Amino acid sequence: MPVYLLHFERRYQHAGHYLSSTHDLAARLAQHRAGTGARWMEVIAQAGIAWTVARVWDGGRDVEMQLKRWHSGVRLCPLCRREAVRS
Ligand SMILES: [Zn+2]
Repeated sequence: MPVYLLHFERRYQHAGHYLSSTHDLAARLAQHRAGTGARWMEVIAQAGIAWTVARVWDGGRDVEMQLKRWHSGVRLCPLCRREAVRS
């Protein structure tokens, strides 16, 4: 089951990322684009914040839990790391 990290174009409150897992990534992303499927992504859609898929891992719940323990999307996110290198 893929675990995916979404990178928000701008931060919403303190959040700049969304990490979750799904059996069907394409369907899940379509739901997120429509602002359905996850309460948090509903809020992001309503705030008009664009996002991109920053990274996908093969794994499932175990990997998701492991990654969430990092408590920092920035360290996991190649887009943020690239920005960090540039500045
Ligand atoms: Zn990021």
